[in-house]
Amino acid sequence: MSVADDVINSMVYPKDGRPFIWHGGILQIWVTRACDKACFGCTQGSNLRGNPGLITTEQFERAAASLSDYFGVVGMFGGNPALHPRFHDLCEIMRRHIPYERRGLWCNHPRGKGAICRETFNPEVSNLNVHMDQEAHDEFTRDWPECRHRLKGLNEDALHTPPFTALIDHYPDEDDRWGKIRGCDINRNWSAMICVVRAELRAYFCEIAGAQAMLHAGDPEWPDLGVPVEPGWWRKGAKAYAEQVKWHCHRCGIPMRADPVLAVGDSHEKCSPTHAPIYRPKTKNRPVVVLDEVHETDRFATQYLSTEAAR
Ligand code: SF4
Repeated sequence: MSVADDVINSMVYPKDGRPFIWHGGILQIWVTRACDKACFGCTQGSNLRGNPGLITTEQFERAAASLSDYFGVVGMFGGNPALHPRFHDLCEIMRRHIPYERRGLWCNHPRGKGAICRETFNPEVSNLNVHMDQEAHDEFTRDWPECRHRLKGLNEDALHTPPFTALIDHYPDEDDRWGKIRGCDINRNWSAMICVVRAELRAYFCEIAGAQAMLHAGDPEWPDLGVPVEPGWWRKGAKAYAEQVKWHCHRCGIPMRADPVLAVGDSHEKCSPTHAPIYRPKTKNRPVVVLDEVHETDRFATQYLSTEAAR
């Protein structure tokens, strides 16, 4: 068996689950990359310019319906999902298809939607990082008091491994890259994603692969390798995702665990030549360093520095 096949067969796919996380798995439904923040090193490129994209309610309904029999948590994911103009409709669809225990929200600020968040999402399976924003913390606490103990990131910043520093730019030898990919933190611990690529609903075995596909969708050289979202899609195995792994993992920086950036308080964005064409920050005059070499660390890919419990 080739090194490539061995790594592809050893990776975690949506059907495999991750026994140590909520309900044994998390699967995200991306709704937009619009965000009121511009965190350095955002895995979804919410710090970058360009059309942030919006899932349609019809696409969201198909996505949620395809996961009604999924065993794990289904997350509404962005960007900041609360900025989606049809957020109330998306929540209503989520309530119809996904049981409360498995309904998660990934959100940094409720932006006036706290009451509908409270009605829809289970705070115990939600990721609510306010990224050092007192106003966001206050609004969550006021309008969704049950989530108070789940809020994090008020007083301390998060560390992000730069995701858009491609392995292929730093490791010329393919087998060396496969060796790195085999130990990817996000594949072992994190989530798959449904998103919208070139106006089509697509499933990816990894949220970073989906983000790459969306951000590079304007480049005809980037292939559409997303899996069509049909009932039962998430039960597919390695064979269905092999082409995604072969393309996207080699263009990803997560396996290198490069020197992290501070989500809120850093001064420079970092990417590598493969991603330089899309790396145009939405924050005016924010510097971008295109890395010729990466300093690797033994740090976990994404680290939250604190959890802000009841204040
Ligand atoms: S795309 Fe990146 S983060 Fe996702 S599994 Fe591959 S190497 Fe890991």
